Amino acid sequence: MVTLTALPQHRPADALISCVIPAYNEAAHLAAFLQDLRKTLETFAPRYEIIVVNDGSKDNTNEVMAPLLADAGLRYISFSRNFGKEAALSAGIDAARGDAVILLDGDYQHPLELLSEMVRLWAGGIDMVYGVISDRSNESRLKRWGTGMFYHLMESGAPITIPRNAGDFRLMDRKVVNALRQLPERNRFMKGLYAWVGFSSIALPFVPNDRATGVSSFSYRSLSRLALAGVTAFTTLPLRIWSAVGVVISIIAILYAFWIAGEAIFFGNDVPGWSTLAAGLMFFSGIQLISIGVLGEYVGRVYDEVKKRPLYVIAHDIDNGTFDKPARN
Ligand code: UDP
Ligand code: MG
Repeated sequence: MVTLTALPQHRPADALISCVIPAYNEAAHLAAFLQDLRKTLETFAPRYEIIVVNDGSKDNTNEVMAPLLADAGLRYISFSRNFGKEAALSAGIDAARGDAVILLDGDYQHPLELLSEMVRLWAGGIDMVYGVISDRSNESRLKRWGTGMFYHLMESGAPITIPRNAGDFRLMDRKVVNALRQLPERNRFMKGLYAWVGFSSIALPFVPNDRATGVSSFSYRSLSRLALAGVTAFTTLPLRIWSAVGVVISIIAILYAFWIAGEAIFFGNDVPGWSTLAAGLMFFSGIQLISIGVLGEYVGRVYDEVKKRPLYVIAHDIDNGTFDKPARN
C-alpha cells in the first residue's frame, strides 16, 4: 500500500546502508546473528555499517562483542543501563550515517531475506519501507485483543494513521531519519513518530520467525505501558472523553432533579432516598478520581518533557567506520 506517490529520487550508486540493532540480553545468538547479517548485506550493499546498541544488557553481551569490536563497519554503542528499546533505536538512528537506515531486532525475528527487497524498494524511490506482520495467529488472544484495542483508540483519536501491525522493522531514507531526529520529545513512541514524519511509504508483509533463543523482553505490563505512552503522546482523546462523560451525567442529573421535584409537587412523595444518594455519591467520586488520574497521566508526561533529560547515556562508543566492499579488478 503506497500512501503517497513517490517522485523519482536520486539514490547514490554506492549508497551507504546502516543497520541498527537494539540488543538487550541477546548474547546467546548475537555473534551468529551479526555474521548472518553481514553475509546478507554483502550480497547487495556495496557499503554498509552495522550499529549494535547494547541497551544495558545483563548477560555477557560485552564479552561476546569483544572479539568483533575491531571489525570494519561495526559501531558498538553501549548504554550505561537499560533505557528501553525506543531509546536504543533513537541512539542507533542518531549514530547512523547511512543514506538508508534499517532497523531490525537482534533475535532473528525479522527475516534477513527481506533486507534486499527493502533496499530495492528504496532505490526505486520509496522513502520508508515498513514491515507489517501478516500473521499474528501464533500470538495469544489477549495480546491480539489488546493490540486491536490500541489501534482502535489511536485511529479514533490521533490525527495521524499508524499502520496496523507495523513494528520497528523498517528501512528509512536519510530524509526520514533527519526528520525523526528533529523531534524533540522525550516520550519516544517510535511507531507514532514514524507515521508523524510522513514521506512516501510502502508496507512489506512478513511473518516473524521464532525468537532465536530466550524470551521476549516485553511482558503484558511493558506492552501496556508502551500503549499508554503511545496514546498519551498522540491523542488527547482520554482527556476529552471526560468532558463528554461530564456533559452526559449533568444532563441526566438535571432530568433526575426535575423528576424528583415533579414527584414531590404532584404526588407529594418527598421521602428521601438515602440509598440513591449513597450510590450516587460513590459513583461520582469514582468518576472524579478516574478523571483526575487521566489528567495526572498527561501532567506527568509534561513533567517528563520539561525536565529535558537525555534519552540515553552512552558508556562506550566504538566506531570502526563503514565496510566498503573491495573493488573487484
Ligand atoms: N530490546 C532493547 N531494549 C529493551 C528490550 C528489548 O533493546 O529494553 C531489543 C531486543 O534486544 C530486541 C528488540 O528490542 O532486539 C525486540 O525485543 P524482544 O525480542 O524482546 O521483543 P518482541 O520481539 O516481543 O517485540
Ligand atoms: Mg523479538
